[in-house]
Amino acid sequence: MSRPNTPIDFRANTQAVPPQIPASVQRATSRLLGTRAAVVDLVGDGRWQPLRQAGHDLRLHTITHLDHYLTLTEKRVTEAGGHVHWARDGEEANRIVLEIARSHSVQRAVKVKSMATEEIGLNHALIAAGIETLETDLGEFIIQLAGVAPSHIIAPAVHLTKDDIADLFRQKLGVDAPAEPVQLAAIARARLREAFLAADMGISGANFMVAEIGTLVIVSNEGNGRMCTTLPPLHVAVVGIDKVIPDLESLDVLLKLLPRSATGQKMTSYASFITGPSRSPQEGGPREFHLVLLDNGRTRVLRDAIARESLLCIRCGACLNVCPVYNHVGGHAYGNTYSGPIGSILAPQLLGVKVAGNLPFASSLCGACAEYCPVKIPIPEILIHLRRRVAEGDQVDGPAIAPVLVAGAQAGALALSLPWLYEYGSQVLRVLQAPLRRGDWLPALPPPANRWTMARPMPAFSASFRQWWRAHRPEGRDRLRRRRILAGVLAVGLTTAALRWWLLRRRG
Ligand code: SF4
Repeated sequence: MSRPNTPIDFRANTQAVPPQIPASVQRATSRLLGTRAAVVDLVGDGRWQPLRQAGHDLRLHTITHLDHYLTLTEKRVTEAGGHVHWARDGEEANRIVLEIARSHSVQRAVKVKSMATEEIGLNHALIAAGIETLETDLGEFIIQLAGVAPSHIIAPAVHLTKDDIADLFRQKLGVDAPAEPVQLAAIARARLREAFLAADMGISGANFMVAEIGTLVIVSNEGNGRMCTTLPPLHVAVVGIDKVIPDLESLDVLLKLLPRSATGQKMTSYASFITGPSRSPQEGGPREFHLVLLDNGRTRVLRDAIARESLLCIRCGACLNVCPVYNHVGGHAYGNTYSGPIGSILAPQLLGVKVAGNLPFASSLCGACAEYCPVKIPIPEILIHLRRRVAEGDQVDGPAIAPVLVAGAQAGALALSLPWLYEYGSQVLRVLQAPLRRGDWLPALPPPANRWTMARPMPAFSASFRQWWRAHRPEGRDRLRRRRILAGVLAVGLTTAALRWWLLRRRG
């Protein structure tokens, strides 16, 4: 699942979005945006903007010196008694986690919400290997029961209403579940407590890895992060290499930006700092700690000097909340783990433009995402850059659009650069379109142009502008007069030459 080969068809996915989704999504995102606005206003724009700039600068510095900070992290985690593993891709990461689980005879695992483990399909790998694996974040618990992927980075079940969740609990858990959030949470809590106590292995990701002290930082509001990382005797963390940050000063900045942008809180209810396993039996916590550092395409992202800023993302979800496209289609339409504007720039780079080349076009380019992003990722610029990469290819990816479209675009570019070709080409197109023309419109065109006409008719090509220009503008009329004189002179010249030639032949 880490590198699917099936191209994502965003357009087809949007047509399959259930009609109730936009309303559910918009209710949740407008609530999140409202709480965000309140806490950001409290900080004041005069302090918020420099904070965003500091977040951007320190994240950019880190990904520019990723090799240094990752080796420092490995050193510090090892010094603290942990084990560090490097995984090139999702398959390798899953294999490492499975080997650790098998070597400890793990039968039951509990998980903290983690986009990196979603990205590599770790749950499927564990369950396929016979390990009972339970998501313990309430939203993830719900979507695991529903058997669907998360539809939002921080609120995975954002597309479901409380009635949907009550129905789900009744069907899957066989309980009498009223559509009341407090009671639904109580039902989930009772299930999860049993699982925490019975688990042999806890699995997490991390919001940040602090290189200078080898510490993972997990922020959450439900306390399940602490249960998963302290109760089971074994803790395995799978963390994308982009999550590393230099030091505690950097963490200070990012912890001011993340909760405010994500949930509209000054600080989340829990911030867990994990440095290696427990040091003694009296201390509690896991006896063994493993850190799997996941690449899965991130070093490929680094090769692109413009698009690499996608790796600055701290997964707050603010760009999703403010995106008009996301608000109308929800997360599943994006067809991969990351949805919304960040998904539209990250997925084509992680999965390749042949798989996710649709997504940079799933945007109105309104720019709201860039204004809300706490680390100032220039999302619209990256979207445009990736559109170019999809069309033309570059040093990272080849072009991903059909050769016929490339040929059409090249012919268009040539025609636009040569005025005479444009003018005569226009006349030819006018003739060619005649069988398809209905009045001023072309209601149905053959592939690939039918992608347009399936949604709306295309205006017929009239090529009348130049005629209009010549008829209405003095410059145009002058040019037309000059052309007519030139044509007349040419015609007279040619006729005279032909006559002379004919007369000479007759005399000869
Ligand atoms: S791109 Fe920016 S706004 Fe979007 S999730 Fe990442 S950090 Fe948040």
